[in-house]
Amino acid sequence: MKIILLGPPGAGKGTQAKSISRKYSIPHISTGDIFRQNISLSTELGKEAKKYIDKGQLVPDELTISIVKDRLLKDDCKKGFLLDGYPRTVKQAEALDGFLAEHGSRLNLALLIAVPREFILERMTGRRVCPSCGASYHIKFNPPQQEGICDVCGSTIIQREDDTPETVSNRLDIYDKQTQPLIDYYKDKNLLSVVDGTYSINNVFKQISERLDLIK
Ligand code: ADP
Ligand code: AMP
Repeated sequence: MKIILLGPPGAGKGTQAKSISRKYSIPHISTGDIFRQNISLSTELGKEAKKYIDKGQLVPDELTISIVKDRLLKDDCKKGFLLDGYPRTVKQAEALDGFLAEHGSRLNLALLIAVPREFILERMTGRRVCPSCGASYHIKFNPPQQEGICDVCGSTIIQREDDTPETVSNRLDIYDKQTQPLIDYYKDKNLLSVVDGTYSINNVFKQISERLDLIK
């Protein structure tokens, strides 16, 4: 199973990716998580990525593409992978296709979690994440059992610095301009499958499972 998750920021990609990864035993690769880990460790990559992430801009293609290639070469990706937040530009999508073709492989599915813009602001400003284990919550739609504390590892959950209303608006504009064209890109390749992301987290996972069970 080689799958990518598409959808605007806040659509629920990370939330669904964790459940998909667990159910289908494929690694969940989130470029956003990779950048955030590097930022918290103050690596050179983290310092470079932070310049863009703080403003809600995309990290340059060359850097992002090379990170994903390195990650896909790891052993755990041999049986498949789930990419979350990559590709975000046509250039990244072409690089992924080229890389997989070089390795005699191809994508099975591009799964779009469709959520209209009016849902997004509430989802993203209410998002809380665990800085230790990466678990994601929502103060209203998916609260932790104990307020402010991660269910998985007990750490204090925080708000992402790029989840402010101004940055969210910038990220949505960038999504419309740079990432939305990928919907047609994958439709033309007959790889696109769309689920309605406006339903509950469990309902969206049910829709996704029905699609993935067909290619298992
Ligand atoms: P993405 O990875 O696409 O940016 P997330 O998975 O982090 O999005 O979800 C954004 C926020 O919306 C999180 O706070 C998450 O708990 C919440 N969320 C995710 N899916 C749903 C849903 N189907 N209904 C309501 N809230 C959701
Ligand atoms: P995410 O966790 O997917 O919301 O990503 C957080 C931020 O990381 C984005 O707003 C971008 O600045 C950066 N980022 C993540 N993935 C990519 C990508 N594929 N290309 C460029 N920038 C990215």
